[in-house]
This record gives sequence, structure tokens and C-alpha cells, in this order.
Amino acid sequence: MMHKDNISEASQSAKTSSALLVVSNIQVVYASVILALKGVSLEVHQGKIAALLGANGAGKSTTLKAISKLIDVERGAITKGFIKFQGKDIASAHAHDLVRSGVVQVLEGRHVFPHLTVEDNLLVPGYVKKMSRGEISANIDKMYEYFPRLKIRRKSQAGFASGGEQQMIAIGRALMLKPTLILLDEPSMGLAPQIVEEIFEIIKNLNEKEGVSFLLAEQNTTVALRYADFAYILETGRVVMHGSATDLAASDDVKELYLGISNKGGRKSFRDAKHYNRRQRLFS
Ligand code: ATP
Repeated sequence: MMHKDNISEASQSAKTSSALLVVSNIQVVYASVILALKGVSLEVHQGKIAALLGANGAGKSTTLKAISKLIDVERGAITKGFIKFQGKDIASAHAHDLVRSGVVQVLEGRHVFPHLTVEDNLLVPGYVKKMSRGEISANIDKMYEYFPRLKIRRKSQAGFASGGEQQMIAIGRALMLKPTLILLDEPSMGLAPQIVEEIFEIIKNLNEKEGVSFLLAEQNTTVALRYADFAYILETGRVVMHGSATDLAASDDVKELYLGISNKGGRKSFRDAKHYNRRQRLFS
């Protein structure tokens, strides 16, 4: 079932469902003046992949950073609403507490330590978390099962790795922390279509075999809807539509506005589409 203008519905279901993550009607303000999110609600269910879709500046990264608390370092603050992870309110938790509870964000832009080798990049979280040698070695072996490319490149300097390999390192590093939920920002950014497919296949694999849940922000709607279970579409800080990925991919509005398949033309946002549809209903 697909919903438009969902905020009240989502916050209602947030109260009743057993979702892993519940974001309810959050408002986020940067530097006390810039209103970036105007009441965003969403859920991520255990073992599922949820996608957060929308154009540049819609508020996708802000939503992820509000959950992981990384907005704190950008002078951002949640001024309304609540966020619950495994039933506990985390709106006032610190970023490091969240990592410890299993919520790990992979930032947009594939941040790697360029002068370290690929393997040392993957090992950093193991050292920070003071894992035993045995644990580190088991984790790294598992990592290479999912990222065979990284095994081949393990002794090379990460700064010389390709964009796709750097994205894999960033995801791999998050995995070393044994997350329950990964918040993944724009995994496809700047990558060739074939590599994007490879990355999404790995995400799906990790989801199915390791049971990791994902909330991923993406501008590449086509790919995201193919791999996600559920999706939310953001426009200027609000969720304008949500539903199962299959329903959204089949929706005429989504096809026209986000998948570039148009037979109507001229509309640039979901709000325009809504007005258009309302006019059609009124005059038909
Ligand atoms: P992109 O794909 O470009 O990252 P996005 O959908 O992730 O876009 P956000 O980066 O969350 O969007 O931006 C949402 C709004 O918040 C935009 O208007 C943006 O200018 C503003 N914004 C984001 N980060 C900051 C910040 N650190 N300080 C002030 N305003 C910010």
C-alpha cells in the first residue's frame, strides 16, 4: 500500500509497530535558523532495507545524521519529534553510544584513510574497539568473503583504490563494528552503473546473510527501488510519499518525477503532481 503526505499515518504506526528504528515527526534546524527537516517520519524494520529518496538538498543526509547524531558536529539540532531504536528513545544519545548499540553511519563521499593500506583501513575499528586478535582475524576473513576485490587489493594504499573499492572499504569498516543497522549515504554517488550494481548486490547479500538492516539515502531511485523493501520520498524536508519499493516503482508519479519516464511533462515536484492529479479528478 502506498501513501502520500504520510506524516500523521507514519507517526501513528510508529507508536504501534515493533520497528527496529522509528523516526517520528522530527524537525531539524541547523545553526538555530535553517529549517532542514519539517516533520519527517519513517520506520526501518528488522532485517529490511529502507530507502530514503529525493533530489539534492531534500534532507536525506540530514535525516541520517539526525539518527546517528552526527548533526551535532554541524550545529544541527532535533527541535521536535522523537527517534527510537529497538524501542529506546535515542534523540538525546551521543554518536559513540549509538555505534555501541549497533547504529553505524557510512558517510557520503567514501571517507578512507588514503595513506593506509586497504586492510589497515578495515582494521581501524577493530583497534578502536580493542577487539582480540582472533576476533579481528575472523572479522577480516568474513569481510573478504563479501568484498573479494578488497582481498586482492589489501596491501595497496587506499588512496589509490577506485571509487567503488573505496565505497566497499567504507562499508567494510562499518561492518567491523558488527552493526544491527547501517545508515548508508549515497552509496552510488559518482560510480559507474556496473559498480553501482556490484555495491547494491553486496548490500543485499549482507542484508540477507548477516541480517543487517539498512536505511540508505539515494538519488539513484531506479537502483534503490530495485534493492529496497520499502522507500520514503523526501522533498524540501518532508516525506511526500512512502510505500513498498514495488508499489512506488509502479507509481505513475514516481515514474515521471524520479525515474524520468514521463508522458505528462512539465512537473518538477511531487507537490505539482499532486495538484495535477487533484485537478484531473475534479474535472474528469
Ligand atoms: P544531498 O544529496 O545534496 O546531500 P540531501 O537530500 O542529503 O542532499 P541535506 O544535505 O540533508 O539534503 O540538506 C537539506 C537542507 O539542509 C539543505 O537545504 C541544505 O542546504 C541544508 N543543510 C545541510 N547541511 C547543513 C549544514 N551543515 N548547515 C546548514 N545547512 C545545512
